[in-house]
Amino acid sequence: MRIEDHTLNRLFFDWLLPIAIFVIIWIFISRKMSTMGSGVLNIGRNRARIHADDGPKVTFKDVAGVSEAKMELEEVIKFLKDSDYYKSLGGHMPKGVLLVGPPGTGKTLLAKAVAGEADVPFFSMSGSDFIEMFVGVGAARVRDLFEQARKKAPCIIFIDELDAIGRSRGAAQMVGGHDEREQTLNQLLVEMDGFDTTSGVVVMGATNRPEILDKALLRAGRFDRQIVVDKPDYKDRVEILKIHIRKLKLGEDIDLDVIAQRTPGFVGADLANICNEAAILAARHGHKAVMMSDFEAAIDRVLAGPEKKNRVLSPDEKKRVAFHESGHALVAVNVPTGEPVHKVSIIPRGVGALGYTLQLPVQEKFLSTKNELLDQIAVLLGGRVAEELIYGDVSSGAQNDLERASQIARAMVTQLGMSEKLGPITYGEEQRAQYLGVSGGTERNYSEATAKAIDDEVKRIVTDNLTRVRHILKENREHLEKLTAHLYEKEVIYGRDVYAICNVPAPDKKEKG
Ligand code: ADP
Ligand code: MG
Ligand code: ZN
Repeated sequence: MRIEDHTLNRLFFDWLLPIAIFVIIWIFISRKMSTMGSGVLNIGRNRARIHADDGPKVTFKDVAGVSEAKMELEEVIKFLKDSDYYKSLGGHMPKGVLLVGPPGTGKTLLAKAVAGEADVPFFSMSGSDFIEMFVGVGAARVRDLFEQARKKAPCIIFIDELDAIGRSRGAAQMVGGHDEREQTLNQLLVEMDGFDTTSGVVVMGATNRPEILDKALLRAGRFDRQIVVDKPDYKDRVEILKIHIRKLKLGEDIDLDVIAQRTPGFVGADLANICNEAAILAARHGHKAVMMSDFEAAIDRVLAGPEKKNRVLSPDEKKRVAFHESGHALVAVNVPTGEPVHKVSIIPRGVGALGYTLQLPVQEKFLSTKNELLDQIAVLLGGRVAEELIYGDVSSGAQNDLERASQIARAMVTQLGMSEKLGPITYGEEQRAQYLGVSGGTERNYSEATAKAIDDEVKRIVTDNLTRVRHILKENREHLEKLTAHLYEKEVIYGRDVYAICNVPAPDKKEKG
């Protein structure tokens, strides 16, 4: 009796129960499949969401700074709002608009705001959503996304993290994933070519790594318009903070200027994060409102975060960088053939560059004269010499400048025949073996004595210019200080201000052509 009981039990739990469970699951799955229609489990079906429907609408009011990007996007908005009018004019819209900028600068937010401003549906997917385990799924999703969008035109298709699918096809890739991504990318290209610009669908993309994108994506008729979304400067940071403190209850001692002052290099996402952290800290300390001390602590916490280290300069460092960049700019406007200074910035970018001085040639140049090259060397030395003049010592920040200055000087001597001493002869033979477009280097085809002469000559060119630059900066020390103070305050200044402060007439733009 007992034994029989036992075997009955075993029969039930080991055999009948699992089978019963299996049958129930089977019924459930087959039902589900029939309600979903075609396809095995519908893997390819899209997860694209229509953002216009969820949550409050995002508009340009929610995006601060980035005024240049906004201006360029105005046109897209106008087109979406009134595509019939544009069609009647035979107007031609860019199909693809690519937002390019560092992470957290508000690219996704801007795309949503364009949809909000134009009041059109917003289909968004992230590049990484397209890439699945199964080959062919990504391509199916792209097809589906465009199909859905075309039905709802005018509308926006937004592909975030475009680089996840749009990575250059030629580049070395990991095994696996490769085929899938290539198929997805090809499908995207096919879809973008497949609708014409009057259909009212605008494709927007965002990436922080435009340099790795497949060239095919950037061709005319695809993402042929690029809009840069840059890191905010001081003034913009204040504006961004104003947006994110709207939800907070603020104490009386809050000074947004000070917060913006302390956060050069921070992007919108960081600033939003700070506001959030400050509120959390205020609650933790039992404050009735968010106080300045909470913000200070929040900044420190965000700074201590994993990747943010070294990203913010101390006031002393910032001052030094301002002097350094002003040095470049001041020399550039004072040497006879200096290219026009367009913009000087001390907003840190990435790991290497703490600031930069941007010069734009009046017209595109294919030749450089000896004097122009000497002036270029002088401008490169300007940063270091300014530091030397003000602080009496130099910093590691000038390394790249020196490298480039020496390169130019060396090229003048060994390749361009611009040294009287060594004459119009080239030294060193370029290795013909080219590997993947990278030169194999140069082979030495001259004597030890010549090598020494070359080194001496390179050194002479650089030191001659060093003397010249020291002279220029000493003569104009007052301008250097003024320029630095202005730059320190504004963080980004433009050519017009630079020329005005240095008391040098701005170059004539009309010369162009
Ligand atoms: P990206 O797509 O460039 O990485 P996001 O658009 O995702 O950046 O920005 C993340 C968040 O940071 C936004 O949701 C917003 O809260 C905040 N933010 C970023 N840039 C701005 C800005 N210019 N103005 C206001 N808020 C911003
Ligand atoms: Mg984004
Ligand atoms: Zn420099």
